[in-house]
Amino acid sequence: MSDGKLIVFSAPSGSGKTTIVQHLLKHKELNLEFSTSATSRAPRGEEKDGQHYYFLSLEDFKKKIKNDEFLEWEEVYRDNFYGTLKSEVERIWAEGKNVIFDIDVVGGLDIKNIYPEKTLAVFVKPPSIEELKIRLKKRKTETDDKISMRVAKASIELATAPQFDFIIENHHLGTALKEAYDLVASYVGVKNENKDE
Ligand code: 5GP
Repeated sequence: MSDGKLIVFSAPSGSGKTTIVQHLLKHKELNLEFSTSATSRAPRGEEKDGQHYYFLSLEDFKKKIKNDEFLEWEEVYRDNFYGTLKSEVERIWAEGKNVIFDIDVVGGLDIKNIYPEKTLAVFVKPPSIEELKIRLKKRKTETDDKISMRVAKASIELATAPQFDFIIENHHLGTALKEAYDLVASYVGVKNENKDE
């Protein structure tokens, strides 16, 4: 279909993968475009439809599942569906770009299984579950209940790390960003120049 590559960043919520993905997107030489996922959860804070997510009603999300419009989808939390639309990946490939994903571990491994020869799957590991809890609390975007739900899920997610191509331990953000840059630059075949930025 295309020569574009797929770069997956997966991790428990609060591990810092979104920061890493946003950092990589600033490096134009990597020729990356973000795969905007669809979700049935409500927008948080400043989130905009079509930019952070395509926000769909639960009903519309289920309709798209039925119509086979998703490359992968997952009920990440109860009644909160997330998925990658086939049309999103096709659009980015048609632009001649590589696709970068910020998705949960199950979705990440699904993509790797669908396109094994053109996917780099990276797992971002938080320093500890305790630290994860602190980060989620600091973020102040979820209720205590939701934080507990995310922390409980994190332990299960951590067990999938060995199935990824690489694991980045996010103890120190600067080091994690550099490591991520190096991995992606090498995978997409870019000479490693701007990694310190
Ligand atoms: P949040 O609600 O914090 O934005 O995302 C919750 C979780 O859903 C995160 O782990 C996020 O990476 C994941 N997620 C976002 N988009 C997708 C997607 O398209 N597919 C899957 N499987 N998970 C996703």
